Amino acid sequence: MNFISTRGGEKVTGAQAVVKGLSVNGGLFVPEKFPVITEDEMTGMLEMNYPERAAKVLSKYFDEYDGGELLSALESAYAKFTGGDPAPLVRLDDGVYMLELWHGPTCAFKDMALTVLPYLLRKGCDICGIKEEILVLVATSGDTGKAALEGFRDANGIKIMVFYPSDGVSKMQKLQMCTQEGANVNVVAVKGNFDDCQTAVKEIFASEDCARELLARNVRLSSANSINFGRLAPQIAYYFSAYLDLVSSEQIKQGEEIDFAVPTGNFGNILAAYYAKQMGLPIRRLHCASNTNNVLTDFLSTGVYDMNREFYKTTSPSMDILLSSNLERLVFEISGRNAKLTAKRMSDLKNTGKYEITAEELEKISATFDGGFADEDECVEAMYDVFVDTGYTMDTHTGCAMKVAVDWFEKHKKEETNMVIVSTANPYKFPQDVLYAVTGNDVKDSFKGIKRLHAATAMAVPKCLKELRDKPVRFTRTADKKKLFEEVLEFLK
Ligand SMILES: *Cc1c(COP(=O)(O)O)cnc(C)c1O
Repeated sequence: MNFISTRGGEKVTGAQAVVKGLSVNGGLFVPEKFPVITEDEMTGMLEMNYPERAAKVLSKYFDEYDGGELLSALESAYAKFTGGDPAPLVRLDDGVYMLELWHGPTCAFKDMALTVLPYLLRKGCDICGIKEEILVLVATSGDTGKAALEGFRDANGIKIMVFYPSDGVSKMQKLQMCTQEGANVNVVAVKGNFDDCQTAVKEIFASEDCARELLARNVRLSSANSINFGRLAPQIAYYFSAYLDLVSSEQIKQGEEIDFAVPTGNFGNILAAYYAKQMGLPIRRLHCASNTNNVLTDFLSTGVYDMNREFYKTTSPSMDILLSSNLERLVFEISGRNAKLTAKRMSDLKNTGKYEITAEELEKISATFDGGFADEDECVEAMYDVFVDTGYTMDTHTGCAMKVAVDWFEKHKKEETNMVIVSTANPYKFPQDVLYAVTGNDVKDSFKGIKRLHAATAMAVPKCLKELRDKPVRFTRTADKKKLFEEVLEFLK
């Protein structure tokens, strides 16, 4: 399977797409053609376990990887998850389900892909005959950083460096990153917000000077952000798996369409759902949920993407994003794969913070997508209502998706929808905010929040969060967003 750039010019293999991360002209790699999973193949997948289903989906894209080896890589990745099933589906009500993607080593859905990416990258380098050392650069709004650090820690021939916004992540997220173990890792805070981090990292990728300086040190860059197709592919798998679980538990018939509501920041998770639909998964609608930073909600209703607006820090920090990178992949598809037009729009976005799609294109998007958002109070209400009605506790990001799903139910006949709400983080990752939502109690300290939340919900506290309190902090550097490359060179010394 070959991959092309959303901005034209390049054609690469799957291994090359993973190794490069981003195309040289700044475009994102997309499959030249979507592979299809047929009804018969779906029937065959009903009996499979999660790693086998994921191997089936991934092998469609990564045909130059050895199938048996891919399966064992997936088996060892998902063996790091607790509870047996890495992506369990929990029934909340008739036709309403939670797809829990946070049972991995760092308690957020990023683990679904970042436990697998090191294999795809390491193997990809071998397939491409790359001899240099690989440096993975990550810009994070909180959860990607930790999941990537954990996934790549002590990986052979790979170093990893994470940049996070100094005031833009939760205390637990920061502690998780700054206490990271491993000889090949580095973590730096950046003065600014997530968009500043992401833009600065993308500039390093795009700079020929940086590439030259790195090559002189025998180093090549790669990315673990969701702009890397190696991040997206493992995410496609859980949409298939959730669907298959609904069929095998006889909640739906094979072929029946379902909806997903997805808490969205960089548009990676929901894009993976769209890709699953392109591959033949019977998806009816995708509900894109934002927080107060509702640039995507506006885009999905007006066709105008405009990031010239105030940036809010919210209790769902992993969605505090105004520049949703993966939207480029959707815009590319609905333009009829017009690379020139996509490149023009992305350059408008860079220069003016804004671009617009046509009415016909918006109509095409609206056939599948709709958008909504939850402000801070609405998110709290959604979490509280579900907790009181069902005893189910969700995190703040998932709370935004819940609000958007409930809005949909109110406007449409609920009976006609099978809604899967994608649950992206363990509630204990945001203990104070979740505690406040479900009990009204406000505590100043995260660990006290964990204790009280446990008392209120009786939900098990994950070991990796509990033990953070006693772990030594290893990383304390803060850098100016203009000076990130200097930090990189310092790390490579
Ligand atoms: C990253 C993240 C999101 C947003 O996912 P995107 O792929 O960036 O849209 C939502 N919730 C949580 C908990 C996250 O970590």
